Parts: sequence; structure tokens; C-alpha cells
Amino acid sequence: VKTLTNTIEKISEKAFYFEQAEEQDDFLKESLQSIQLDTSAEMAAIFLYEKSSNELIFRAGIDTAGVWDRSKMSEDVPSFQVSEHEAGRAFTQNKVIRLDFEKSEEHPFSSKLILPLSLGPMNIGILILAHSEENFFKEYNDFDLTSAVRDLADILSNSSLFLQGNEELHIISGQKASTGIAFGYAIPFWAEKNLETILPAENKEAELSRFHQSVELAIEQLETLQNSSTLVISEMGNMIFSAHILMIKDHSFIQKMVDEIEAGATADAAITTVVNEYAQRFSEMSEQRFSEKAQDVRDLGYRLKNNLNSGKKRQFSYKGKIALARHIYPSDLLRLSMQGVSGIVLFGAGVTAHISILARSLDVPVLITDDPSLFAINDGTRLLLDAIKGKLYIEPTEDFVRERQSKVKKHVDPRIFTLKGKTRDNVFVQVAANVNILKDAEDAKKQGSEGIGLYRSEFPFILKNDFLTEEQQYHIYKKIAESQKGKEVIFRTADIGGDKLMQGRQDSEDNPFLGVRGIRFSLANRDMFRDQLRAMIRAGYQKQLGIMLPMVSSVEEVLEAKDEIKKIQDSLKSDGITFAEKLKIGAMIELPSAAMVVEEIARECDFLSIGTNDLTMYLLAVDRTNENLSHLYRSHHPAVLSVLQSIVKNSQGHSVEISVCGDAAADPVLIPFFIGIGIRKLSVSPFNIEPVKKRIAQFTLDEAKKIAGELLSINRIVEMDRYLKDFSIRYPEPV
Ligand code: PEP
Ligand code: MG
Repeated sequence: VKTLTNTIEKISEKAFYFEQAEEQDDFLKESLQSIQLDTSAEMAAIFLYEKSSNELIFRAGIDTAGVWDRSKMSEDVPSFQVSEHEAGRAFTQNKVIRLDFEKSEEHPFSSKLILPLSLGPMNIGILILAHSEENFFKEYNDFDLTSAVRDLADILSNSSLFLQGNEELHIISGQKASTGIAFGYAIPFWAEKNLETILPAENKEAELSRFHQSVELAIEQLETLQNSSTLVISEMGNMIFSAHILMIKDHSFIQKMVDEIEAGATADAAITTVVNEYAQRFSEMSEQRFSEKAQDVRDLGYRLKNNLNSGKKRQFSYKGKIALARHIYPSDLLRLSMQGVSGIVLFGAGVTAHISILARSLDVPVLITDDPSLFAINDGTRLLLDAIKGKLYIEPTEDFVRERQSKVKKHVDPRIFTLKGKTRDNVFVQVAANVNILKDAEDAKKQGSEGIGLYRSEFPFILKNDFLTEEQQYHIYKKIAESQKGKEVIFRTADIGGDKLMQGRQDSEDNPFLGVRGIRFSLANRDMFRDQLRAMIRAGYQKQLGIMLPMVSSVEEVLEAKDEIKKIQDSLKSDGITFAEKLKIGAMIELPSAAMVVEEIARECDFLSIGTNDLTMYLLAVDRTNENLSHLYRSHHPAVLSVLQSIVKNSQGHSVEISVCGDAAADPVLIPFFIGIGIRKLSVSPFNIEPVKKRIAQFTLDEAKKIAGELLSINRIVEMDRYLKDFSIRYPEPV
């Protein structure tokens, strides 16, 4: 079996000498020469992709007659449309392609090997090798070739030779999923270059002992993290880090690294090789709970390598690091955040609403971009992540960083906010908190929350990507209930489904937002539903507990759930377990159907809460997670406002409390609107509590009613836009 690895290493060493842009061609030719020499190919050529023409265009080549250069060619530069020819196929499908022909006039080369050159997921071109003998390249295996050309592309891009328009690389634009600013050093979470550092034999023992020390230290660190009592960690951390501990105690994983070192690799190189191999294998698995492990294993790899080189510093953290990733699961987000990551940049779409919600709770700025130049950013590059403006600045100047950071310094108000929410003329409007993780509950308390209006209980499930036992849930819920010191706490039963899938636990659906989501999921999975209700009802002992049902579409679902709650209370009683005897039962009004039959639902409930996030989505048929439709996703749409008013009107007369818990509850224009139509409770994210209270205090009830009337009289979107613009001048937000 032949390999290209040594050739690539040679090229890599040379890259150092060709740093100037003018030397770019020479470097390419040198590289081709090495490849041709080592493989004995009779021809080698590189074609690069050009976006404007969608073609692969010849860049440089070499054959037995010498080097051919694009600049010395006639106008006829060879090219392929990417949609045609095997070369196009190798490029678009990112595959090694072997072509074997009988020798003929048409095919002077009987064997051809076409290799895709890729940078991260972005293909930048192809490398073609050819020989006149048949089956000439059969001794190379595809796996080795793939990894070798990946390294080759990496080298070419590292020495800034490959990418045209280099200056453009300095700013990457994207959508913000969680706002904020972070400065730090890049830490890419995709395949790292394998380090082929060879160790002198006499150093082997020392290297092995260095490696084992790093493993021991990692176990120690992970166990500390797992048992740490800080808030977020005590909630989910032990589950999240136990995967790492299992992995690191897995004999074969560590043994593989030991084998690499025994075979002469440095400990750093051994870790990289084995981590790449495992991550690759995990990421190819279709089931999420396995593919999720790809990041886990890279994360662990960073820890091990860091420990190798940290000397006496025994801590490991991502503080001052900006993680670049292709994909991220909620558990990764929590893990990175717990290890102090300063910011995250993600490639591509597919970011679920819950990633954004969680990132905001964790206060981690997150940017999503579809710009593939993200993959050209190297480990350690200085970055300024501005997830307020939606930009990532690469190697920004220090002045720029300072200026940007000083503009957005968080204003920390040392007062403890204890005032109740009320209008200027003293009408009380309760301001409660939306809570996703335990940290939110603590933040909420500090910000002066009047209880919890929505606890999204699916978060632990989504973070773990599995169900939790009744006991595990009970401990989490109890902490959340206790955090509010006697104020009302509303637990929403799990809203799984939609984009909050737990893969492997749920059948995949063509239209998950219209599928088995929320209460439908709970009623279809009774055991899980009962475990959850038992845990909630137990945690609500001697608390003011409310249980709220998500995604209700008809009153029958409420009746079925009430029946379960009653049965659980009875069984807890006969088991002699303490539980909440008095509790309120409520429904989310977030589907158009529920809004239409709200009177019937109100009759059966103690409270209702309007979920404007979903209500807007389902009324307007606009996916809340689809960035391309964000201009159509508007809670100020005349249809939405009219439905909101009718919900309040039609539920009045039943002694039911009604609140709003979607993001619109913190909207500066909609706050007076809600008060005007009769809402007296808003539930918002913790850091919105104070601003929302201040906004409420700006208006009298009559003013709010007048504003609601004005808004409801508007039927056209253009007119609405004009009104909103005008409104912000008439009623500037309080400072
Ligand atoms: C809503 O839909 O408005 C809501 C509060 O619930 P979630 O965002 O969890 O779907
Ligand atoms: Mg909802």
C-alpha cells in the first residue's frame, strides 16, 4: 500500500518559503512536482473552482515534458463545467474517483485519479493524477488519499495562496442567534490536520508518561466539573460530562493513543489522529445521539492536548476562545458554555429555536453564517465576534476591538429590583420570568421577577437527548420552584417535537411543526408524561404551583391531562408522598384552533398563557426558525393583533387568569397594546424584566387602551410600519 502522507509533509515544510503572493505559482508548481515525483504519475494537474462561471478551471499542471502554466497557455485554458465529466462529479460529490481505460488515441492515460480538494465542507477544486499504465494507482487507498488531499488543501490555503479576494476574508457576515460581543482566539471544531511529528525513540517513555499524566488530570478535572455545585452544572452537568468520563475511561480509546505513541508519534499527534478517527466515525452515524458524540470527542481531545502542554496550570477552559463549528447540539452548547467559551460561530442553517433560546439563557453570543471562508480560519486566529451587528472580524486591530467593546459594555445596575410592575396610574401588571435552565431562575430572582410564568421543562430532555427519570426531574423542578421564594411557578409540560426533536425517541416526520409536538407527544407517551407530572406535582409541595400544557388544539386534550393529574395526586396521596394538593392547571394558547375555541378551554382552566412565538408562526404560516422568512414573521401583523384581542375578549367572564409569555411580551410597542386589551401579566426572559417594568410605568391605562385601539384599526402592513416608526418617536423607550 502506498501513501501520500510523506509527500504532503514535504510540501507543508516548503509552504514556509513561499509567503508572498507573487510566489504563489511557484509554490503550486513545486507542490505538483513533489506529488508527481512521489507517485510516479505521468501527469498531475490542479483545477480550481470559479463560482461566477460554475467551472473548474485549470490552475497549474505538470507532465513528463515539464510544467505547464496557465499564464503561458493560449486563450484555451482547460475547464470543466461542474455538472459534467467525472471531474465535476469528484468535485460536487466530494469523492475520490478512479478512471481506468483501455489505452487509445482518445485516452493516452489509462489510469486517472481525481481527488477533491476541500477546505472544511467547501470544495475548492480538484487534483488529477494520470498514468498510461492500467490500474496504476490501485495501491493507494481512498481513505489515505482523502485525508492527504484535505491536508494539501489546508496547506495551500494556510499559506494564503489559494483564496482569491483575501481582503474579503477579514469580515464574515451572518445572522445572530444570540446577541452579544466576544473577543477571543479561534478554536475550530472540525478535523484538525494530523500532526506527523515523529518522536526520537529515546523520548518514548517520557512521552508516554506525559500522556498518562494528561489523562489522569483530565479525569480529575471532569470529575470536579461533574460534581461542581454551581447552578447550571448541578442541573445537567453531571449527565453531560459523564459521557466524557466514560470515553476517557474507555480502554480502547486511550490504548489507541498509546499505540500511536509506541509507534513513534508525539503525544499531541497521537491524540489528534485518534480523535479525528473517532469524530469522523461518530459524525457519519445517522442517529443523533451518536453523531452528537463527534463534538464530544473533539472537546475531549482539546482538553487532553491542553493538559499535555499546560505545565503547572491545572485548569482547562475555553475562556477567551471563540468556537467555530459546523453543527452544534444543545448539549454541546451547554458544555462549551460551562467551560467558559466566549462565543460561538456556526456554519449553515439548521439552528433550532432552542439553540437560540438556550444561548441567550447562557449569555453566549452566537452567530450563524453560510460563508465557507469560515473554514479557512485557523486555530488561534484573533477574532471579534459581534453578534449584535451580525459580523465576525478576523484579525481586527486592537483599536477596533476596544472601541466596539466599550460601546456595548453591559450596564450593571447594583440595585435589587423589588418594585412590582405597574402602570403610571398604578394598575398592577405582573412581570414574571421565562426560565429555561436553573441559571435563569436565579437571574430572574435578582432582576425582581414576580414568579415564573413559563418554565420550559423540555430543556433537560433536549440537553440530554433522552428522557430523565422521575427522580432526576424532581430534583431539577424542586430547585426551580424553590428559587422563587414562595412566588408562583408555572411548569410547562414538555414541548417536545417541532424543531425540538429527540432523535431516536421520535419518528422523523415530514412536517414536525404540524406533527407530534407538545401535549400531543405527552398524551401519546403516557409513561413519560406521568413521570413528568409526578415529578412536577411532588416538586410543587408547599409551593404555588401551576402546570401548563403546550400546543393545545382542543379542550379534549386539556380534559385528558387534567384526568392524569388527578390520578397522580390520588396515587401520591395513597403512597404517602408529599405533593401539591392545590395546583392550577392552564393551557398555552398558541394555535389558531385554540384561539378560536378559547372560551371552551377557559372554562376548563385556571389560567391561560398566550404563546405569541408559535401563534404568529401558525397564523401566518411562517416557520419561526426560517431566517429567509424573518421579514414575514411579524407579531405586529394585523391578523395577529386581531386574534390576540379576540382571545382576551372571549376568555373574559370565565374566572381565568390570562398572560402572554411569547417574545412579544417584551416588545416596547406591544406592551401598551397588551395592557390596553386587558392583559395583566407578562412573562419575559430574566434580563427583560427590568426594562419591561420601566416600559409599563410609562403609560396610564387609558393611554394603553387608546394605543390598542389605534393598532387594531390598522389593516395594512405598510400603514403598520409607518405607525410603528412614529410610535418610537412618540414614546421613546425609557433609559
Ligand atoms: C411561544 O410559543 O410563544 C412560547 C412561549 O413557547 P416556545 O417559545 O417554547 O414554543
Ligand atoms: Mg410555543
